[in-house]
Amino acid sequence: MEDIIIIGGGICGCSLLYELSRYQLKTLLLEKENDIACGTTKANSAIVHAGYDPEPGTLMARVNVEGNKLIERLSNDLDVLYKKTGSLVVGFNDEDRKTIEKLFENGNKNGVPGLRIIEANELFDMEAQVSREAVCALYAPNAGIISPWELASAQAECAVQGGAKLELDCEVRAIQKEKDGFIVVTNKGNYQARYVVNAAGVNSDKISELIETKHFSIQPKSGEYYILDTTERNLVKMIIFPCPSKLGKGVLVAPTVHGNIIVGPDSKNWKRDDYATSREGLDAVRRNAVRTIPTVNLRASIRNFSGIRADAERNDFIIGESKEIEGFFNIAGIKSPGLSSAPAIAKEVSELLHKKGLEFRPNPAFIAKRSVKRFKYMNEEEKKRTIQENPLYGTIVCRCETVTEGEIVDALQRPIPPRSLDAVKRRCTPGMGRCQSGFCGPRVLELIQKYSHVKPEDIPKDRKGMYIISGETKTKNNTAQGVVK
Ligand SMILES: Cc1cc2nc3c(=O)[nH]c(=O)nc-3n(C[C@H](O)[C@H](O)[C@H](O)COP(=O)(O)OP(=O)(O)OC[C@H]3O[C@@H](n4cnc5c(N)ncnc54)[C@H](O)[C@@H]3O)c2cc1C
Repeated sequence: MEDIIIIGGGICGCSLLYELSRYQLKTLLLEKENDIACGTTKANSAIVHAGYDPEPGTLMARVNVEGNKLIERLSNDLDVLYKKTGSLVVGFNDEDRKTIEKLFENGNKNGVPGLRIIEANELFDMEAQVSREAVCALYAPNAGIISPWELASAQAECAVQGGAKLELDCEVRAIQKEKDGFIVVTNKGNYQARYVVNAAGVNSDKISELIETKHFSIQPKSGEYYILDTTERNLVKMIIFPCPSKLGKGVLVAPTVHGNIIVGPDSKNWKRDDYATSREGLDAVRRNAVRTIPTVNLRASIRNFSGIRADAERNDFIIGESKEIEGFFNIAGIKSPGLSSAPAIAKEVSELLHKKGLEFRPNPAFIAKRSVKRFKYMNEEEKKRTIQENPLYGTIVCRCETVTEGEIVDALQRPIPPRSLDAVKRRCTPGMGRCQSGFCGPRVLELIQKYSHVKPEDIPKDRKGMYIISGETKTKNNTAQGVVK
């Protein structure tokens, strides 16, 4: 019997797994996909919001502001790519100015440090490419950018190394309440636990309905994006938002921690599991982006993608123990700023579990720090030393992102080994550059095969079923020219 089962390996589930790994507990995370961070956590704006958006007094406001601080510390401790860039909400007229004043007031009530309303001249000094029609902006120095999937995998890897368990390809299909806990029924069999935490993202309503009377429902809302080539990296230094509307924070233009520019998202009601982009969605993004940054060059786009928001259509997150089923907890309706809030949500839920009777004895195997080698950021001396120590760091596999074989092999041997091309990309970035894995894809496939002993035709691009190759063309009896009889 486990102490806790967490359903869902997104940023919320992984943050909770890590938080609980501080203590001697039996914790198991069940994730339906072949990797962690495969849902909303892999497809969002990657902004660590300062915390002026949420309504003062809400749980969302509290965990956003707290999460912003925790992420800075966590990224440092776990060597996750993060940068405190600051953000600007740009206003174009009197109505926008009122919105900005309201955000300023909210932010001060929420305890966001350093907020300032700035006028046009200072704004243009800070960001030269902002439209000359702008009249003012809200400046938030504490906002930042991060690699969201890396924050999730770093926490999950450390938790697993510290004794927590993870089951991938494990879909929760039923939950039964027993006298002393729960039976969680999955495609891989049954698991028992004293407590169950639902962190299933866009499916959090479905998981809740497996055991509770329906008390919320998720309206999935998609958001589409452009990722621009690193040639555009100097376009903006900060995260540039327009004024928010009822639909959300609006189309932003921002740097990414990998040196690209991200532009998006739009917002529309959508399906839970459909990550397709559309002409209309991308056109809407373009129309809105050029209003704030007229010089944005969308022809430099190297990738489009879409993410799905888990919108419970209320002003706050749904976090806490079920009113009906003792020992069952929800982390649900975690739309934006869910990424920014996740480490604080994890602390909140871990505290609730503690109050419920879960004993917190420190785990001597807890991993508080980790570091990863990133060849491209090393100086010449470090590069030389690293190659001497391990010659695999002397072979560049991904030319666009300068990723070495050593980094990929290291990722393949970590506590949660990636088993798809995109999972390797999420761990150490091969395929994130201009050619989008056209060059390095086959080499990464070979390395996955070598270290996981899975047949190449069984290695997907990302999720199950997304296979890249269907078989070999050049075997003894089967040449590139055709089958030899
Ligand atoms: C377009 C967009 C932009 C955003 N921008 C930002 C931003 O800039 N900053 C910010 O703070 N937030 C942002 N967010 C919000 C943020 O991305 C989410 O709040 C966060 O990723 C949610 O994490 P999660 O762990 O709750 O959900 P997810 O990451 O979706 O994880 C849920 C997991 O549960 C698994 N699962 C589902 N059903 C089952 C089942 N039956 N059995 C087992 N596993 C299951 C899924 O496979 C998934 O891995 C944005 C969201 C979107 C969509």
